[in-house]
Amino acid sequence: MNKTIRIDSSDNTNWQNAIDTGDLRWSGGSWKYYWKEYSGKEWPKLCCREGCTKEATDGAHIIRINSETVYIVPLCGDHNPRSVSPTKTNPCFSIKNGSVLVNADDDGID
Ligand SMILES: [Zn+2]
Repeated sequence: MNKTIRIDSSDNTNWQNAIDTGDLRWSGGSWKYYWKEYSGKEWPKLCCREGCTKEATDGAHIIRINSETVYIVPLCGDHNPRSVSPTKTNPCFSIKNGSVLVNADDDGID
């Protein structure tokens, strides 16, 4: 099953950090490794969030607004807060065109 999607101008907007994912673990290693394993791609140098020029360090859990499907995307530490709770503001952001997302619904979700 192909777990990846490639972001383009049709779906690059209205992404959010997924709620309460800080404790999720993948049995195979870090979420960064998960992304590399399933995308088959080279880890990008820069954060995939639009406008960000910081180094991509984290495999972050994100969702598209009004969707429950969770994806992993390479982001910098600033854009991957440890915990996003339902009560905190969780503004939408855009993802850079060409970014690769890996579906995480089957793994690490209890
Ligand atoms: Zn960033």
